[in-house]
Parts: sequence; C-alpha cells; structure tokens
Amino acid sequence: MKIRAAVLEQFGKPLVVQEVDLAGPKSGEVLVKIEACGVCHTDLYTASGADPSGYCDCVLGHEGAGVVAEIGEGVTSLAVGDHVVTLFSPECGQCVNCKSGKTNICTAIREQQGRGYLPDGTARLSKNGKELRHFMGTSTFAEYTVMPEIALAKVDREAPMDKICLLACGATTGIAAALWKADVERGSTVAVFGAGMVGLGAVVGAKMKGAERIIVVDPSAKRRELALQFGATEVFAGGSNGAAEVIEATAGLGADYTFEATGRVDVMGQAVEAARLGWGKCTILGVAGRGEKLEIIPRFLITGRTVLGGSFGGAKGRTQVPLLVDMYMRGELELDGFVSHYLTLDEVNRGFDLMHKQDGIRSVITF
Ligand SMILES: [Zn+2]
Ligand SMILES: [Zn+2]
Repeated sequence: MKIRAAVLEQFGKPLVVQEVDLAGPKSGEVLVKIEACGVCHTDLYTASGADPSGYCDCVLGHEGAGVVAEIGEGVTSLAVGDHVVTLFSPECGQCVNCKSGKTNICTAIREQQGRGYLPDGTARLSKNGKELRHFMGTSTFAEYTVMPEIALAKVDREAPMDKICLLACGATTGIAAALWKADVERGSTVAVFGAGMVGLGAVVGAKMKGAERIIVVDPSAKRRELALQFGATEVFAGGSNGAAEVIEATAGLGADYTFEATGRVDVMGQAVEAARLGWGKCTILGVAGRGEKLEIIPRFLITGRTVLGGSFGGAKGRTQVPLLVDMYMRGELELDGFVSHYLTLDEVNRGFDLMHKQDGIRSVITF
C-alpha cells in the first residue's frame, strides 16, 4: 500500500515527508494505522547523525498509538480494531529474560531490530523498490506501520490516542521508574535531576506513590515552573552545584530516591552523590553518549547507596503500559499537561525545532 511517512534520507538534514510503499504484515506481524505519535529526543538524536549506531534511509518515530488494521499469520493476541501503543522495547514472554520476571530487556528480536529490520531480517517499507529501514522497530512517523505482535501493547479503546502515545516512550520511562523500578516509598524524599519529559514523569510517579518531598533540579526556569505544576515541592537551578543543593535541602543527608533524566554523565554523578547515606537509591534514566563513563566514588556505595538504571524505566511494555493507560483513564495519572504542541505529519521538522528551543515538553503529531 502507499502511505505518507517522514523519511530520514540524510543525517543532519530535515526529514522528507513523502509517499512510500508499505508491504502487508507477514507471520507474527501486525499492520497498525497510526493515530498519534510523540516527537522524542531519540528521533532528533538519530536524525542529527550523532548516534553512531544510527542508520538511514529509514522512517523515524517511535512514540505511537493506533488501531490494528490487519494481522499476519499466527497472530493471536491482537485482532483488527484493537487499540495499541507501540513498543520499541518488546515483551515476548518466552525468552529467558522475559521468563525471569526480573527485567524488561527482551532478547527475542534485539539484533534485527537494532539494525532497523523486522524480526525476519527484512523491511516492509520501501521507496521505488529501494528498502527503507524501520527505526527502533516502530517507524511511527507514518500513516501506517508494520510491527511485530510482541512489540504492541493492547490498551483500552476509550483512551485518547493523542495522550496515551506518550506512554510509548518518554512518559513511561519516568513514571515506571518511580512506580516500579525504584518503587518509591510513601513519605519519602525524592530528588529528580532534569525536568524534561522523563524527569517530569518521575515527578508524577513519585507523587502517585505518596512521596512527601519532591525536589527537582533543572537549570531552566521554565522547566522548574512546570515541575512545580506537576507536583515538585521544591526546585533548584543545579548546574555544577546540583548535588550540594539537594544535600543542603535535606539537612546534609541526601534524598531517599534520586532520578537522573538528562543523559549527562556529570549530572548522573550528582544524582549518585545526592542519594542518602545508608539507603539512597539512584536511578539512571538518561542515555549518555557512547563511550562516556560515569565516575562514582566507591565510598558512596560502601556507605549504602544503590545505583540502578532502566531502559524504558524498566517497564514491561505489554504488561505494564496497559496498566498505565488504565490509571490515566481512572484519573490517577497525569498525561494531558505533557502535550505542549499538536502538529501534522508535514510539520514534523517543526517538532525538532521546538525541541532545540526547549519550547514546551512534547509535540504530538496527529493523523
Ligand atoms: Zn523516545
Ligand atoms: Zn522476551
């Protein structure tokens, strides 16, 4: 079929929205009509060419929500008409990692997905007979996409796509980290470094868990203001001083839980240092550049701090994203405030510009 999609043809150049070909779903695959899609930093990062593992030509986008339009052979857990959130982090339920229950790092399709292909090692996307690769196994800057069944979370049909698409990446990363990965305790003190989408998600999650104090550190005054709206109780400007500010605000002790959501290794170091002596738990959520190293003074660990991390906030996509959608539908989970701009697919490059300018939190493309 012919679809419109935003194609990365050349690193560092704007995406080109154009008509491309999409083949139907093969065995274990599903055709999804995309209804809404967030524009995330990872799309921008890949488009810029800064990611050494990036590839093109490909159709970008990985924060999608849509409706199942067709199912391939052997697909049993989804039917035409089901509403789904796309997952760059699949959950097969069969691999050793999935079966362990200890991790969300499913190994079923990692290798081919990392290279931009569907699990059988081929692409369904093409242009004039030349293959286009599938970014993160999702390629959601498109009217339709074909994805593996194991990378789609079936969700409540009543849920608004233009909000729950955020649960495909950024929002879930922060929220799930606070709710489940770090498992924030009621009455505790939390410090969040970085108040972008992921950091604000951690604020929302910490608030849901009943944290008493939520300290947010971000150099941007605009973002600190947003953090207060989302439930931060105190905000600091940080900079090189971030850890000291949190330690001082907690009578020299540090926070029970710290979250890092910037991708900067110096800030990760601050988040470790700002975790409380004895039991402080530091959760790293930002993605650092390849080859960068996080330095930790061993004394911080010997004296009881724990450092952990989680891709997608540790969330198991098919199991836990539907739970988050249900929480949103019950009014327990804030998502609406995250959407700052609505765009059309043709305006996708404007979404990148807005991100460059740190204007708003999330742009959402609707179809
Ligand atoms: Zn993302
Ligand atoms: Zn698996």
